[in-house]
Amino acid sequence: MNVLVTGGCGFIGSHLAEKLLSIGHEVYIIDDLSTGSINNIKHLQTNPKFHLNKDTITNDSLLSSIVDKVDIIYHLAAAVGVQLVMKSPIRTIETNVHGTEAVLKATSKQNKKVLIASTSEVYGKSEKVPYKEDDNLLIGASTLGRWSYACSKALDEFLAMAYWKEKKLPVVITRFFNTIGPRQTGQYGMVVPRFIKQALSGKPITVYGDGKQARCFTYVENVVNAIISLMENKESIGQVFNIGSTEEISIENLAKKIKQLTSSSSEIVYIPYEQAHEHGFEDMRRRIPDISKLSGMLSKTGGFPKHGLDETLKLIIKNFKL
Ligand code: UDP
Repeated sequence: MNVLVTGGCGFIGSHLAEKLLSIGHEVYIIDDLSTGSINNIKHLQTNPKFHLNKDTITNDSLLSSIVDKVDIIYHLAAAVGVQLVMKSPIRTIETNVHGTEAVLKATSKQNKKVLIASTSEVYGKSEKVPYKEDDNLLIGASTLGRWSYACSKALDEFLAMAYWKEKKLPVVITRFFNTIGPRQTGQYGMVVPRFIKQALSGKPITVYGDGKQARCFTYVENVVNAIISLMENKESIGQVFNIGSTEEISIENLAKKIKQLTSSSSEIVYIPYEQAHEHGFEDMRRRIPDISKLSGMLSKTGGFPKHGLDETLKLIIKNFKL
């Protein structure tokens, strides 16, 4: 099959491209290298089935010429990372909204199946965990920049569902829960690569707030396999799926674990949110997915794997480049 991956030079996109090539697909990438990196796909460039287009997805003629050639589309290009969102809110909103709009328009002209990558951030600060796909989304005030990311991705979801309902465009929406793995950078705020970098270089490990907030970190390979299975399954069309691990850890314990796994002498320091971000910054205390819907869909292939966090962290640490 011929496949387009938007954002294919990003962290998740590059793992997806690698997997798709390994199972024999022809892979086209569009990436403007704004947060993605050539280093992520360097090892794929010698593969004759790999085609890289360094451009923005809002280049309509390029996008439609590639959509012409492919059978399915994975739309992963987006502005990601709390730090980037806080620093560049206009870029975040415009990239997420205009990019998805362009992809849905182009794919709907040819009625090709498209996966829209969304995020667990859309659940906002809802305290009703675990989160189910049809739960309410509780987004904070528009004066707090953080929520622009959730809101822009929620709008992407609404637009995708609208294309499905009005034009019968086969869409699949996936909400990722704190994906981690080799090649992820801490540059845009993601906690695991940040802590590993700090631990390996002997710098203080910076826990924001009281460190009691908790997350479920999900191994990127499991995410990639899950989205490929969803795209192969006709029943996934017009639906939203949580994709994530259900193993929860507090950020404070994550810091201790990474310190121990790296045998680091770094001290663990606590930084108030206002100092790390902006006054009034809101974080969610817990974020746990209900994955029964996903597990049901993947039941024929053994369900969503339980990949232990320790095992995943060890793998990331082993491959980490300072
Ligand atoms: N975090 C932290 N120190 C850092 C970066 C992040 O304590 O240097 C915290 C952050 O406040 C959040 C959690 O780690 O509570 C996960 O952050 P990340 O940005 O990776 O993902 P989020 O769950 O916020 O989307």
